[in-house]
Amino acid sequence: MTDAVLVFNPGSSSIKFALFEISPELRRIASGAIEGIGTAPHFLARDSTKAVVAEQRWPDGTHEDFLATLLHWAEDQLGGHRLVAAGHRIVHGGAQFIQPVRLDEAAIDALEKLSPLAPLHQPHNISVIRAVAKLRPDLAQIGCFDTAFHATMSATTRRFALPRAFEEEGVRRYGFHGLSYEYIAGRLREVAPREAGGRIIAAHLGNGASLCALQNGRSVDTTMGFTALDGLMMGTRCGALDPGVPLYLMRRHGMDAAALEDLFYNRSGLLGVSGVSADMRALSASAEPRAREAIDLFVFRIAREIGALAASLGGLDGLVFTAGIGENSPEIRRLVCARTAWLGLTLDETANRSAEGRISTADSRVAAWVIPTDEEIIIARRTIAVTA
Ligand code: AMP
Repeated sequence: MTDAVLVFNPGSSSIKFALFEISPELRRIASGAIEGIGTAPHFLARDSTKAVVAEQRWPDGTHEDFLATLLHWAEDQLGGHRLVAAGHRIVHGGAQFIQPVRLDEAAIDALEKLSPLAPLHQPHNISVIRAVAKLRPDLAQIGCFDTAFHATMSATTRRFALPRAFEEEGVRRYGFHGLSYEYIAGRLREVAPREAGGRIIAAHLGNGASLCALQNGRSVDTTMGFTALDGLMMGTRCGALDPGVPLYLMRRHGMDAAALEDLFYNRSGLLGVSGVSADMRALSASAEPRAREAIDLFVFRIAREIGALAASLGGLDGLVFTAGIGENSPEIRRLVCARTAWLGLTLDETANRSAEGRISTADSRVAAWVIPTDEEIIIARRTIAVTA
């Protein structure tokens, strides 16, 4: 009998999923998403050739309604084979969760306590887990944490310059996008084994964006911190900000925590600076001067943080681009590499137009690659390891 695992990768208003057959080795049977949760829910699944194999729309509904459809569909695909586990990408594992875990009631309660640290994502993660537990109480559920990969960062790197009591209650840097960086570190060992042992910066540039400094495949520094707000400018998130700014906004504009949270998570970044869109494709196509200014700031902030992480690493051997913008925008890669030339990176303009592989010249001292990320396969592997 061929067993299967279903992987959940929830965003703030979507649930991406992927269905993997386990034996003899992991094979993606299908993937898709439930999008428009809260507005116009829409379920779409594609097979391994990307052909649409299922679709449904709802006027509205709960997580339980959507997941009932998804689980039913997943089991139909298996033709009588067994769905043995569900693996979840969980944004925040705090200090406690640095390995994948079985999501029993105690673990779910502990994760709920971390919701203020990831207010857009964690409650959504938890409602997916709870809905699956209700619909399929027999199904093993495993949580894989975006923060866990960064557990190798040193105490100095993790620390904020605040009184120690705050650090003791967990106010410190955690880092995110760890499942993506784990995949990239593994893939780089296959693509470029010599460089993979060195000093690499991986740039996960999607709607959320961060950089990770990898030394011999392990995280030594990253741009996100206590929350996924820190570091780079993102689609709608502001990234690093002078801590005096929220103080000013509170005093001058009477903003409270909820108003600041909405401003920093939902109305800033590419959207806030351009006033046009959070979507890089729309900004690249726009003739609006502020769209160009938003792109310039996005690139400047990446280049500045590359300099900072190169300092953390004591030099740089390679740069990897991944995620929606990193994988699909030769323009952003070209602009970032131009600002990174001082570190010894020379872009191969022709290679940069292709979708994958090495994009630096043969004689570039610092190499650069495009490596498409795959968080779902990491979750599937970890889920199988815990349930085996
Ligand atoms: P992700 O969060 O990884 O799905 O990435 C989403 C981001 O990738 C959005 O800003 C998209 O505009 C961007 N993106 C996707 N395809 C392209 C493309 N061909 N050119 C530029 N940006 C893209």
